[in-house]
Amino acid sequence: MNLIIFGPPGSGKGTYASRLEPKLNIAKISTGDMLREAVKQQTAIGKKVEKFLAKGRLVPDEIAEALIKEKLGELRGKGFILDGFPRTVEQARFLEKIIKIDAIINLIIPDELLIQKISARRSCSCGEVYNIANVNDTINGMEYRLAPVLPKKEGVCDKCGSSLFQRNDDKPEVIRKRLDVYKKQSQPVIDFFRGRIPFVNIHVNSTPDVVTERILSELTKLNR
Ligand code: AMP
Repeated sequence: MNLIIFGPPGSGKGTYASRLEPKLNIAKISTGDMLREAVKQQTAIGKKVEKFLAKGRLVPDEIAEALIKEKLGELRGKGFILDGFPRTVEQARFLEKIIKIDAIINLIIPDELLIQKISARRSCSCGEVYNIANVNDTINGMEYRLAPVLPKKEGVCDKCGSSLFQRNDDKPEVIRKRLDVYKKQSQPVIDFFRGRIPFVNIHVNSTPDVVTERILSELTKLNR
């Protein structure tokens, strides 16, 4: 199964992609993780994209597209879930030309909760994500009960034992820019795909366990 997981920064794309990866036996492909790793390793691409990431801006389409093309080639036909790609209509057109996508999981969450959730995110270099926020709110008649996702030992990743950190672009001054970039450049991707591939619209208003089950059940319905 070839999937895209889409949504604003802080909606939980990385969390749900990580959870769906073993359940559906597909590979999680995160352009954000790949770019951060390139910056860390100071590769030629890493040096080129460093400033874009630090400022919360998108890296040039050609760079993200080349990363995805290479990664999809390595998968040799195994299913995947794309986290963070495509992020512009140009990237969506590119993807459509190179591979068939079975569905897009569209995560929906009100703006009011995003800044709160992003600033509470704690990440691991292995791709695991935790969140120390405890959201208990009713917005436009919908209840949001987002319990914290905590590691067993404070500050340490359950999966690999490394120390958790706050991403530089998860700090308040960069978050606003990323949300702005999302609205202007990434949201139009939704309109591009409407009517072209099946949509699974998911309100992120409960714990990751509950929301993951909801995604799986909606995906099963698509196959009927
Ligand atoms: P993420 O981890 O998905 O939030 O991505 C972190 C940062 O990596 C973004 O703010 C962008 O600077 C960059 N990035 C990730 N994916 C893409 C993409 N598909 N196109 C352009 N820039 C990207």
